[in-house]
Amino acid sequence: MRFANVEGRMQLVMADGTIDVAESSGNKLPSDPQACLDVWDDLVEWAATASGSDRTVATGMRLAPVPRPRQALGIALNYQLHVGESNFSAPEEPSAFTKFPSCIAGPGADIPIVGETVDWEVELVVVIGRSAHNIPEGRGWDYVAGLTVGQDISERTVQLRPPAPQFSLGKSFPAFGPTGPELVTVDELDDPDDLQIECAVNGRQVQLARTSELIFSVPELVSRLSAIITLYPGDLIFTGTPAGVGHARNPPEYLHPGDQLTSTIEGIGTLHNTCVAP
Ligand code: ZN
Repeated sequence: MRFANVEGRMQLVMADGTIDVAESSGNKLPSDPQACLDVWDDLVEWAATASGSDRTVATGMRLAPVPRPRQALGIALNYQLHVGESNFSAPEEPSAFTKFPSCIAGPGADIPIVGETVDWEVELVVVIGRSAHNIPEGRGWDYVAGLTVGQDISERTVQLRPPAPQFSLGKSFPAFGPTGPELVTVDELDDPDDLQIECAVNGRQVQLARTSELIFSVPELVSRLSAIITLYPGDLIFTGTPAGVGHARNPPEYLHPGDQLTSTIEGIGTLHNTCVAP
């Protein structure tokens, strides 16, 4: 199943149109996409039997599939080649930070270029489907509502400012977390542990990898993070970026107003973001 947030209303996306979740369910299910995450099992059960008779073509703007997550985590250094280009050694535990929820934006959001060192990071984003604490790795996928595409936009000067790096602040300016275009359930994907992930700037490919290269896989992240914190329905985990970020290039490259950022994950979809003056 594929779900989209169209102008603030949750839609089930079919091959030839969309079905408004609240209308079609007789308001048994909420219209608010965030509230839908709190009743995820009911939503999926309804969606499995949703009839096509209510199908329309929603033409409004697509917004973040999960617009107001209670928690949004990012994982640093989760692809070996990115660990290498960043001159770190591979972590023994996931290296996590916060993307403050105020940075979450939609799949077509404009990205304000707030400094001279704003960088791209395409990432697979996990959407949690039920409360999770102390979950064994073997059950990790059971707690995932679905997957979406994200960008962990990063202002490197703020992120790396001494004496203690400020990952959470440097990655949380407004619209620094575009997500979407749809929330895709895991059963839609042939192998949810092995998806091609890529990023292009102005049509030039800058990142290309497969999610099978993740050092900590999705179920491993659910397990290791939930060993410490409680994950809530609708929480996001930005799972880390592959090699090819601008900061690690020689010379370094950054985003500028007018740049077009394209981020794609196989089987999920594509984000199209325009960089703008703040
Ligand atoms: Zn990242």
